[in-house]
This record gives sequence, C-alpha cells and structure tokens, in this order.
Amino acid sequence: MGPLEGSTLYVCPRCLESRTVAGACPRCGVQRVRCHPGDPDDPCRRPLMDAQGKVLTRAPLWWLRHTVSRLARRWEEE
Ligand SMILES: [Zn+2]
Repeated sequence: MGPLEGSTLYVCPRCLESRTVAGACPRCGVQRVRCHPGDPDDPCRRPLMDAQGKVLTRAPLWWLRHTVSRLARRWEEE
C-alpha cells in the first residue's frame, strides 16, 4: 500500500494542476474537480497509449475517464 492509498485529489480541469485540498486553481482560478486516481501502480494512472505504445494523451487514464469517460471507454475497447 502506498501513501496515496485511498486518497482524493482535486484537479484543475484546465491546466491539470492537482492538490489534495478543494478550492480554486491558483493559476487560472477554475474550481478544482474531485478525483480518485487509485493506487500508485494502478494502470489507469498511466496516459492512454495505442497498440504501438505511442502516447495518445498527456493526461492519465483516470483523468480521461473522469472528463471524457465515454470517449475513453471507446478507446479502451479498440
Ligand atoms: Zn488551472
């Protein structure tokens, strides 16, 4: 079990800055969104990659699931 086990993160939807507390983003002022990224070794923490291992997004999969879950699910099924 890692130190982030069961933790909650608050992530800015615009610049993806993450904090452990809720509130507005200090960079752009957007209210951060609560997320549950899972265990440190959870595969959903890695960015989305295609079959050749090319990274498709800079954001980790858990974030994509949170924001564009329907699209991310379709990518995972391909
Ligand atoms: Zn921001």
